[in-house]
Amino acid sequence: MPFAEAPSRALPTLHEFFAPGGILARSPLPYEYRPGQLEMAKAVERAFSERRHLIVEAGTGTGKTLAYLLPALRTGQRVIVSTGTKALQDQLFFRDIPFLETLLGDLRVCYMKGRANYLCRHKLVTLQNQPILSGLEEINEYREIAEWEKQTETGDRAELATLPESSALWQKLDARSEACLGTTCPDYRRCFITEMRRRALESDIIIVNHHLFFADAAVRQMAAAAPDAGILPEAGLVIFDEAHELEGVASNYFGLSLSNLRFEELARDTETLLRGKSGSMNVAALTQQLRDRARMLFAALPAGDGRQPFNDREGFLETSGDLYLGVRATLRQMEADLDSLTEAEEAFALKGRTMRLRSDLEFLLESNASNMVYWLERRGAPAASDRRQGRGASRTTFIQATPIDVSELLRERVFEQIPTVVLTSATLTVQGGFEHLRRRLGLSEARELVVPSHYRYGQQALLYLPPEMPDPRDGDFPEAAARCIRRVLEITQGRAFCLFTSYAQMRDLYERLLPVLDYPILLHGTAPRKALLEEFRNTPNAVLFGTSSFWQGVDVQGEALSCVIIDRLPFAVPSDPVVQARMKAIEENGGKPFFDYQVPEAVLTLKQGFGRLIRSLEDRGVLVLLDRRIRTQRYGQTFLQSLPPYRTTNTITDVEEFFNSPKP
Ligand code: SF4
Repeated sequence: MPFAEAPSRALPTLHEFFAPGGILARSPLPYEYRPGQLEMAKAVERAFSERRHLIVEAGTGTGKTLAYLLPALRTGQRVIVSTGTKALQDQLFFRDIPFLETLLGDLRVCYMKGRANYLCRHKLVTLQNQPILSGLEEINEYREIAEWEKQTETGDRAELATLPESSALWQKLDARSEACLGTTCPDYRRCFITEMRRRALESDIIIVNHHLFFADAAVRQMAAAAPDAGILPEAGLVIFDEAHELEGVASNYFGLSLSNLRFEELARDTETLLRGKSGSMNVAALTQQLRDRARMLFAALPAGDGRQPFNDREGFLETSGDLYLGVRATLRQMEADLDSLTEAEEAFALKGRTMRLRSDLEFLLESNASNMVYWLERRGAPAASDRRQGRGASRTTFIQATPIDVSELLRERVFEQIPTVVLTSATLTVQGGFEHLRRRLGLSEARELVVPSHYRYGQQALLYLPPEMPDPRDGDFPEAAARCIRRVLEITQGRAFCLFTSYAQMRDLYERLLPVLDYPILLHGTAPRKALLEEFRNTPNAVLFGTSSFWQGVDVQGEALSCVIIDRLPFAVPSDPVVQARMKAIEENGGKPFFDYQVPEAVLTLKQGFGRLIRSLEDRGVLVLLDRRIRTQRYGQTFLQSLPPYRTTNTITDVEEFFNSPKP
């Protein structure tokens, strides 16, 4: 994908490319004509030419990426393609684009990740001159990175296969915006971010993910941000693939989040960057004060694990206001001292960072924005010593503010700014309609299209709803679930995903089934997700027990995955602070939170989970839902009417017959 020359030749029309006997059909790959693919491509091209938004639900097997890439290329304008997952981003750049190039010639395409994926050359130099590496491991990692820096063209850490994902050193060296000096940086011209921005400006298609897209949008909004903080160039055409993820990602980036780690990182970077350049500023005393005061403030936050509402911020400030004012005073002092360090080029960026940290803290503890829910989240277990002393300091604690409703924000900042936005995914409709999506995203004006799946679900998949299951909220459910899972897995010979709505339920069923199942069981959380999936693919008759992250973005083709079992209808947890606030807001506006929010959200999640099974025209398998409510409750119909047309049964012998019968 060279960047030097533009594709000057005319690109084929959609018909020439997708129609029977067309370019795609004549390609070396076994490609079959898919009417839905051509229909989608035409709809995308029309949306581009009419400058209108478009929502397309493209059932699995449509070939939707080519159906939007060709129309995008044909516009001759810059198009941003944003994906929900890194897996799809990789697929587009490493598989779909090279495939298109074999048919169309060289294309100008750029792959962009978040800044934290790239090396900051300036930090590497700084650290070399002032080594504060901790331990042999970091010294070795530093050497490896320094060697690699001399030859890499991208600075993308993905090239460093041996660098651990959680490398503490990388966090000291990455190019994230808050520590960037921008145009004042002595390494600006050689900077990987500068280079990536230049490449993006010369590209016709820029492949990003939703996190980067919204992080970029958020960073541009901040008046105090460095002028070069945004890395995406302007584009009048944006395609959001895996658009079912938009609300969640936009909520994160239009909100605010502040953790105890951010104070630690600011203290650490201030010490590193100002070593030998601090003039009259007593860096060590101030950073130590910041650490101590932030630690006390976070320790005083309401106790609890996981995610919890933080509604009574007023009460917190009444009792612990002094701690908050103490942190704020230290940050102000740092800002003033940094301001006086006119000689050190790093001081300017550090001051900006300190100001942003202070204003985030002020917002999170003092603001009363009506569209925000404030909450706390603790991740990781407290260290034993902290537990003994009643502290939670080893855990990361986040103070968060999340918009309750992102529809207005998305309308203002995305749909009214960009002439054409295409939203697509295999799971956007509920009972065949887009109302839920439109409402949640604030997209009133858009064309719509539903492209049915290219797969023959009626023959390829059987949905088994076991008839005698207790209600999943009853105490005897886990035992009945274990019996049913065991029975089904004996028929399918393992080769299954068991997907759970909670970690506790997954562990419970795992412990019940481990002693009695003859198949290798892989458990979510025991290894990185990618490694578990690799092991699943390579282990005959394996069974994988997983929670939320395995419900989507996972693609296992062939017989290795012949069964997907889901424990219960995936309703969002009503005690979650964000869900709670959203339900309350719907109620206050006269709606019915359960039917207007929880049911449609759960429908989309269930469609995603079941969507793991059939990934090609050759795949066959059984879907099992252990939750009787899909049959016994009226809302169950909403789920059944939203799923693809699977053949449904209540009889286990049908499952046996399905597996014993030869492939059609
Ligand atoms: S411009 Fe920013 S990211 Fe690039 S090398 Fe300089 S400080 Fe690092």
